This record gives sequence, structure tokens and C-alpha cells, in this order.
Amino acid sequence: MSGQTHGSSEELTALKSNVDVVVVGAGFAGLYMLYRLRGLGLQVQVIEAGSDVGGTWFWNRYPGARCDVESMEYSYSFSEELQQEWDWTERYATQPEILRYINHVADRFDLRRDVQFNTRVRSAIFNEATGRWTVTTDKGQIVNTQFCVMATGCLSAAKPPEIKGRDLFKGSTYHTGLWPHEPVDFTGKTVGVIGTGSSGVQTIPEVAKQAHQLFVFQRTPTFSLPAGNRPLKEAEVQEIKQNYIDLRKRAKVSPTGVASYPLPTLSALEATPQERDLAYEFRWQAGGTAYTRTYKDIMLLAAANETAADFARRKIQSRVKNPELAEKLTPRDIYIGTKRLCLDTQYFETFNKDNVSLVDIRSTPIQEITEAGVKTSVAEYKLDALIYATGFDAITGAILNIDIRTSSGLTLAEKWRAGPLTYLGLMTAGFPNLFMVTGPGSPSVLSNVIVSIEQHVEWISDCIQHLTANSCAQIEATQAAENNWVAHVNQLASATLFLNANSWYMGANVPGKPRVFMPYVGGVGRYREECTAIANNGYTGFDIKK
Ligand code: FAD
Ligand code: NAP
Repeated sequence: MSGQTHGSSEELTALKSNVDVVVVGAGFAGLYMLYRLRGLGLQVQVIEAGSDVGGTWFWNRYPGARCDVESMEYSYSFSEELQQEWDWTERYATQPEILRYINHVADRFDLRRDVQFNTRVRSAIFNEATGRWTVTTDKGQIVNTQFCVMATGCLSAAKPPEIKGRDLFKGSTYHTGLWPHEPVDFTGKTVGVIGTGSSGVQTIPEVAKQAHQLFVFQRTPTFSLPAGNRPLKEAEVQEIKQNYIDLRKRAKVSPTGVASYPLPTLSALEATPQERDLAYEFRWQAGGTAYTRTYKDIMLLAAANETAADFARRKIQSRVKNPELAEKLTPRDIYIGTKRLCLDTQYFETFNKDNVSLVDIRSTPIQEITEAGVKTSVAEYKLDALIYATGFDAITGAILNIDIRTSSGLTLAEKWRAGPLTYLGLMTAGFPNLFMVTGPGSPSVLSNVIVSIEQHVEWISDCIQHLTANSCAQIEATQAAENNWVAHVNQLASATLFLNANSWYMGANVPGKPRVFMPYVGGVGRYREECTAIANNGYTGFDIKK
């Protein structure tokens, strides 16, 4: 079924002016939210800045882009027919394949007719007198709605770096998260890439295949392991499909939302060095970010983490021929896994190529972008094209880009000035009827995000159904419940090594952003249990009004 063509987003409907629910975003979250709400018979308006569905997979079209959770798990589980009819072709699907899948979903469930594309939501204002939200778009359109759902994505606000002279460069400039729709040909070009996180690690080997010369500007070396990508065999796909319902059930109660990841029970510190090497080698060969789940304490204890980091460092060094270069590419001062572990295809090996040069911008910092290229403290690199693989204003960026406020003057930006505050990552006190999908304080980016999206969407639609069935108009998180949740999220995080990293999980990649560990580390299964119990107990911690 993959490869099917899809309907066009040009077939736009007029923006409805009065609805039950406005959903912002038409990625995996927004589309499933629409599907569920429609099933409740509600009037829904989805508003999407892009010209078509797909979210992450619409915007991130850079060469080499693919998922790092296996395709058979990184997909919707809500429809047995859908999961049976769709055939993934690779262990980790490429961006075009995932985008075809999302388009197929949009067509199959006839979702496009309620999506307004090419339209950005600028503000959402809650009127305390009427109990309704007024949503305003960049085109000046206004929608009046009872509920608002922010399905705006954790990694959708692309962030260029704060480097002097960015607008001066006369060559072509790209950001991995805002990649052009037409293919970009780097053949014969001298290209620079700034950034060596997941996006850089995927794009660098592909650009190196075409470019005459590639300069990689690295600030922090990256822990990355081979993805072990390969075509999926028909027999294995069929076997998974035969047991799909069971696999999905296991994913939902697992810590990471991935059924195939191990549940570690042993401590790294109790194993002998030989046992550890065998265990790490096994997970290394298996591929996948489950490497940091080889032992139960890798993300908790520095000494345990060091054993995993040490093995990974040795692997990196074995992949790069020049020992001096290998050392520059080896992370030394960061706990493995505290920045998102990358999966690659020939990333480190790419630096063995004659046309690829590493520029260590930690020892020779970039001073400015010039008309000709990138100028560091020791040299100017003349470039035809410059790629920013510099990441996102993650988790809160897209939500805070919208002016969210109440008629009495409370603004979300002000409320979250010192860091995001939520109850369950689903709602925030003071803003009734405003839901977030994978909001801060939920497992979101620490999980197979589609599993977390489905859980949130189902919780939100069940909640709205509950309100409607009980003739209630309004729900709001209480301040006390929010305070307790925030304390709980922080307490769980403080028992881990995550707080030590300058990661986007911590907001550290955005100057001025509060340093708070934003996701919930307690695991998908445990989190789901808490959310379900709260709903089953009549929405404990929420104020519900007629
Ligand atoms: P998004 O897909 O980000 O969609 C949000 C949409 O909201 C966007 O289309 C955006 O245009 C729109 N929007 C935002 N603000 C506004 C506004 N004000 N007005 C109108 N529209 C707005 N997760 C995994 O679990 N596994 C992976 O392998 C994986 N790979 C990834 C690879 C890349 C390159 C990136 C960047 C992320 C990856 N992720 C992965 C995380 C990924 O973001 C989620 O898996 C998932 O796609 C998020 O879906 P979403 O619908 O929540 O958000
Ligand atoms: P990222 O992880 O934040 O990496 C950004 C890179 O740019 C880092 O190397 C960073 O260096 C560098 N950088 C940022 N600002 C800089 C500056 N001013 N000067 C020099 N270097 C700068 O962003 P990303 O790679 O786009 O990935 C974000 C997340 O998206 C991932 O963690 C993952 O969750 C998701 N993703 C997943 C995949 C996948 O494999 N499926 C692919 C892409 C993205 P420092 O480390 O020094 O800050």
C-alpha cells in the first residue's frame, strides 16, 4: 500500500467561524485528534501552518531523514485495518515513506476537509464571561470555539543559531527542519553543515556523497550508533502483523512506548567488564536507541553510565581511521543518553572520506557568517551552501509562539516564564478547555512519540465526551494538582543524569530559555496508568463546571 498518491491540500474548505474544537497542527497528533473528535459528532477546525499534512515529516525533508523508532512500531495503532493494509519497506522508514503514510491516513479517513492549510494561529484568547476561546490566524480570520487543542508538536519550531552575519551569506542556506520541497543537488558544491545532533548525523553522510567538499562544524561531539537499517522482509512484516494487537498493547505499558525494547533488570555495576562488553556488543549490533537500556542504572548512576559511554567511545574510535580525528569526534564530557542518542548510517565512516573535513568549533569558535561562508577564529571557509542542523526550540517553542491568554490578562508566556507548568502535560491551571498533546510534563519526546500522541488524544477526546455527556461546559486543572504534578516530574528527573546535560530537553539550546527538564521520565506505562486513574476517578485534580 505504500507509495499511494494522495488528495491535494489545494481543495481547501473555508475556515469555520464557530466550532466545538479548534485543533492547531496537522501532524500525527492533530490528525488523530480530528478523527476522534469527529467520531464524537463534534464540529472541528484544524489549522495548519504547512501546505499539507504530516507535521515533522512534512517539514524535515533533508537528505537521510528517517525515523529512529522502528517503522512497524512508529505508526498509528488505532485502526487494525490501517495497520494491516500498510506495508513498511525498511526497518527505519525514510521521511518520504512516512509522509506517504500520513497522507494515506488523511485520505483513508477523509481528514483533509476539516483542515485549513497555509494558515498559522497567532493568538488564542479565553473569554471568561462566555467560557469560549477566540482563535486568530495570521490571515486575520477568527474562530470561536469551546475547546482548543494544541497539537503543535515538540519539535516543530526550527531554531537557527545565534551567529552574527547569518543574513549576509550569498550562497544557499537551508535548515534541516524547514527543508525545500524540491530535491537539492549538492553535486560539485562546497557545503558546510553546522550541527551534529540527530538531524546532522543523518544528513552529513548523504550530503558527503554529492558534495565536492563538505565542512562539518562541530561544537559538541555526538554519541551515535549504527541504526542497522535494512529492508524489511515480507515474512517478518507478516509475523508482526499477525501479532500486531499484542505488540501494540505491550508498547502502551512499556517505559518507552516501544514493545521491542528490553526491560533491563541488572545493574551495570554488578556485571564484570567482560559481561558488560558482551551485553553492550549485543545491543550495539541490534541497533536502536535501546542501547542505554542494556542495564537499569545507565541513566541513573554516573559510574554505570560511564561503562556504556566507554564502550560507545571505543566503537566510535574504531570507525574513524585517523586517531586524532577520531578523538575530536569522541564525546568526553557528557553522559551518554542525556542528549538524545543518535542513530546513524555511516556517520563516523563519512569522516574517513577525502572530501569531508571536521571543523572543531569548540577550539576554534565560529565568529561570524560572511558573504562567502563561515569564519572561525582561525580561518574562513568559503561555501556554496550552508546547512543549519541546529535543532528546535523544543517542547514549549511552538505553543509559546502563539499568544495564549485569558480575558483577565493572564498570559501563558508570563505563567511559564520560569519554565512550563502543567498538570499531566495535558492542561495548565488558569486556562480552561485548553489541552496540549505531548505537552511539557508528559513522556512525549522520551518515548515512541506516536504511542504518547495516541494516549493523549484518546484521553482528551474521552474527557470532552465526559463533559458533553454530563452537560458540563468547562474543565480546568487546579493549581494544587498542577503544583503536585510539577513537583513529581521534577523529583523523578532529579534522580537521573539528565539534568547534567546542556540538552534541548533542558531548554539549554535556546539562549534565555529557563533550564528545566521538561519531559516526564517515569515512563509511558506508569504515566498512562496515572492518567487513566485520574479520569476514572472523575477527573481528580480538575475543576469541572456546568
Ligand atoms: P508535529 O509533527 O511537529 O506537527 C505539529 C504541526 O503543528 C506542524 O505541522 C506545525 O506546522 C503545526 N503548527 C505549529 N504551530 C502552529 C501554529 N501556530 N499554527 C498552525 N500550525 C502550527 N519521534 C519518534 O518517536 N520517533 C522518531 O523516529 C522520530 N523521528 C523524528 C525525526 C525528526 C527529524 C524530528 C524533527 C522529530 C522526530 N520525532 C520522532 C519526533 C516527532 O516530532 C514526533 O514523532 C511526531 O511526528 C510529532 O507529531 P505531532 O503531530 O505531535 O507534531
Ligand atoms: P539537536 O539535537 O538540538 O542538535 C543541534 C546541533 O546543532 C547540535 O550539535 C548543537 O551543538 C548544534 N548547534 C546548535 N546551535 C549551534 C550554534 N549556535 N553553533 C554551533 N552549533 C550549534 O537538533 P536536531 O539534530 O535537529 O535533533 C532534534 C531532535 O529531533 C532529536 O534529538 C530527535 O529527538 C529528533 N530527531 C530525530 C531524528 C531521528 O533519527 N529519527 C532525526 C532528527 C531529529 P551543541 O550540542 O553543542 O548544542
